[in-house]
Formats: sequence, structure tokens, C-alpha cells
Amino acid sequence: MPLGSESRDNDDQRFEMLIGGEWQSSVEGAVRKATNPATGEPIGIVPDGSREDARRAIDAAGEVQPELEATTAFERAKYCHEIADAIDSSADELSSWLSRDQGKPLHEAAVEVELCAEEFRNAAEDVKRAETEVIPSEDPDKQIFTIRKPHGVYGVITPWNYPVNIPAEYLAPGLATGNAIVWVPAPSTSVIAVKLAEIIADTSLPDGALNLVTGEGPVVGNEVVANDGTDAIGFTGSPETGELIAETAGTKPSLLELGGNGPVIVLEDADLDAAAEATAFGCFSNAGQICSASERVLVHEAVAEEFTARLESLADSITLGDPFDDETDMGPLNNPSVAAKMDRHVSDALENGATARTGGRRAEDQRTDLYYEPTVLDDVNPEMVVNKEETFGPIAPIITFEEYDEAIEITNDIDLGLTSSVFTSNLDLMHYMAENVETGIVNVNDSSAYWEIHPPFGGHSGKRSGKGRLGGKYTIEQMTQIKTVAVDYGNVRSPR
Ligand code: NAD
Repeated sequence: MPLGSESRDNDDQRFEMLIGGEWQSSVEGAVRKATNPATGEPIGIVPDGSREDARRAIDAAGEVQPELEATTAFERAKYCHEIADAIDSSADELSSWLSRDQGKPLHEAAVEVELCAEEFRNAAEDVKRAETEVIPSEDPDKQIFTIRKPHGVYGVITPWNYPVNIPAEYLAPGLATGNAIVWVPAPSTSVIAVKLAEIIADTSLPDGALNLVTGEGPVVGNEVVANDGTDAIGFTGSPETGELIAETAGTKPSLLELGGNGPVIVLEDADLDAAAEATAFGCFSNAGQICSASERVLVHEAVAEEFTARLESLADSITLGDPFDDETDMGPLNNPSVAAKMDRHVSDALENGATARTGGRRAEDQRTDLYYEPTVLDDVNPEMVVNKEETFGPIAPIITFEEYDEAIEITNDIDLGLTSSVFTSNLDLMHYMAENVETGIVNVNDSSAYWEIHPPFGGHSGKRSGKGRLGGKYTIEQMTQIKTVAVDYGNVRSPR
């Protein structure tokens, strides 16, 4: 059951890190207070881990990894199913902690927890079907084939916006393929990370296969990336941190899922009701804190006013409030720095000629100053920061265009290229736009944030949205290495 409001805040509760199957404090004893962004009240105390803690976790993972690798894919699939079932059994409690730690409405938290369990089920199925090849040889005495091996000890560093599902995108396929994991969650969502790790630790997964180290990214995260004991790195977060990680990881295989900036493109012949609904979802769900959010809205000038009026009315219908209240559509932003970024981007737009059709400021009637009004900005031009950079908040900046090639140019003329969406009823234009926008994912007639667990997800080459693909068999491929085996059996071949 979700915790009642009277029992939600308990600042005495101490959480620990999971290292080698044991719950431990930081060796240096440092801690940080975790607060609920919706109330500002403490929800517990988490270890502020040190480099030594990260090293101990890496050693623990290294010790158990050969044992994990020696199990079959079928045995590891069983672990994943067991974890998925355990997550389902604790779903209400986990959703409640997720909402308190991250700030999202309880109903959104429940969906995220469901997806987390599904990630483990999917990985269990995918790993059993992972394919390798037999490759024809030039030499008649040779048989050449490939096998897949785990990388070894896998460092996983994750952000705070989907702090249950994004880790599962790595943990599930990582464990399924026989990697031992050292996971560093975002500091502002460390409590929910501990709660998820508690559930996993209580299954029959071998001790040390999953380790959790809480603490600051530049300390514990950097140690995990730089340390010779990790063999590969999975990272989801900002392009700036991603670039640092790529530099530090050097030649270690690394899977990087970084920032996005939409856009949604509404062509003249689009179904405007459907486009406005999907855009509102893409801009405002999870308070806009989604890498695939519709952070820029490019609308053909002939339908701009009609579309904007619809979007404005949808934004106005959003209820901000207590994430535990069933009526609440949007909670607070997760932390002060994301709220400050939203302030900066909105001010830049307003100072340079944009108009706030609705919103454009922090909400004043909430318990913390982390709530931001759903914002629709009109008269935005491509030079403004809201077009050029990722805002990561509840914002819909409207930019108009005359020709569809202009929309493609505005889309491609920035250094991010994760997801986009196009609304049109013209089949030729659907294909033309999908071919020409430089984003790793294009959704046609749905939100830029439309997503499923198994299709490939990642950024366009040459942009700063990442490297590699997450999702289904694509993650299984990325979290394993191919070994080529060439067997010579010439000495046992019967003479013809
Ligand atoms: P962030 O880069 O600030 O932090 C991400 C993680 O990296 C955190 O755990 C942080 O502690 C850690 N970190 C920070 N500095 C580090 C360092 N020097 N070495 C190692 N680790 C370090 O990002 P954020 O603010 O937590 O998340 C928001 C960003 O994540 C946005 O840009 C968003 O688009 C992106 N994101 C991308 C995807 C995707 O799938 N592409 C999904 C969700 C979020």
C-alpha cells in the first residue's frame, strides 16, 4: 500500500550501500540528507560514498563475476524473472518511495515501477534468444564461429529523472548476460536506488553480482569509470558528463545515452487535436524531465494559432500539487539546479521577444519552490536558448515555419539529436521527414516521448546525444563482446 501522508516523512531512517552482498556505510562515514522535492522535508539519510567505497564495490564485483559468467543464460534468465516478480510484489511500496524521492505523481511512479519489472522480464527472454554466427571459412579444415561473452565488471551511472526504469535498462540485460555490476545512482534519487537494490539483494542472485554505491558523480562515478577493475561503462545523463566519461573511459566499451531537445514538427495537414494532445504529453509529463521530451514545437504558420490555442488550453488544464493526490497531474521539478535552468531559459526567451501564452514562472501556491507552471511560449525564434539547448522542464516553445525543409533545418541545426516527432497526414511527407531529420528516433503522429522497451533507442551520429543503442536485443549486444573461435580439425579429417 502507498504510505499515508502521516507516515511519509521519517528523517531518522538511515540507508546503506550494497557492497559484496552486505549493507554498508561509507568507510569515511560521510552522509547526506535526502529530501522530498514536493514537501522539502527529509525522507532519510544516505551514505555519501568515497572512492574507497567504489573500489570495494569494484573488487566485490570482480570476485563474483566469473561465477556469474559460468552460469547459463537460462539460469540468469531465472534470476531476472525472480527479480521482476519481487518488484511486482513490492510495487506499491516502491512507487511510493519513487514519488517521495523524485517528486513525480504516484500514478506516474506506478507506471515506471511496472516498466522496471518488465525490463527484467524482457532481458530474461532476450538473453535466451541471443544469436551468434557460424562464418564460412576459406580453409576447408576450419570451422569459424562466434560466441558472446560478458564484458566483465560493468559500471552503470544513472540520472534522477527515471531513477527506477533507467537503471533497469542496464541492470537487467547486464546481469542476464553475466556482467557483475557496480551501480552509481544520481545523488538526488539515492533513496529509491537503495529500495530497488534491497529488492534485488533479497533474491537468489549471487552476492556481489549487483553493488550499489551512493555518492557524488565526480567522486564515486569517476572512480568507477577510471578504475582498471571495471571493463565497460553504461551511462545515462547529460552530454557534458557523458563527454567527460568518454574521455576517462578511454578504450573501455561505453554505452552513452545523453541529452535531447525534441522537436515535435506539426505540418499544415496534421490532425491538430491529436498533435496538441501528444505534444502536451511530450512537454509536461514527468514535469518535462524526459530526454525525449518535446522541448521545441515547430508548427506550420498556417495552423500555428489554432494549434497553440489547443496546447495552451491543455497546459491550463494541468493540476499541480501533492504527488500523492489522485488529482495531481504534475509534481515539482526534482532539484534546484533543474528549476534554475528552467528560469534561465524562460527569461532568455521572454527578454528576446517571446510571449508566455501561459505559465512562464514558478508556481507560488505549492509547498516548495520547485514547482513550475506548465509553460507555452509563443513568438520563439531559433536563436533563443530554448531552441538551442535542452531545458528539461515543463516547456513548450512554439517556433513557426513556412516550408517543411525549414523545419528540418531548424531540427538539425543544433548539436543534440535524440528523438523527434512529425505530425502529418501525407504519406510521402511522413517518409521524407523521417529520412531527413537528424535524430536517432522519429515518431510519426505521436509524441516525441513515445517509447517501448525493446526497439533501439539512442542518439544520431555526430551529435551529442550519445553512443550506442539501448533496448531489447540491442542492449544484449552492447553489453556483451563477440569472441571469434576458429577451430582447425584438419588432423582428424578422414582422407578422401
Ligand atoms: P548528469 O550528467 O548531471 O548526471 C548523471 C549521472 O552522472 C549522475 O548519477 C551523476 O552523479 C553522475 N556524474 C556526474 N558527474 C560525473 C563524473 N564526473 N563522472 C561520473 N559520473 C558523474 O545528468 P542528470 O542531470 O542526472 O540527468 C539529466 C540528463 O540526462 C539530461 O541531459 C537528459 O536528457 C539525460 N537523459 C538521457 C536519457 C537517454 O536515454 N538518452 C534518459 C534520461 C536522461
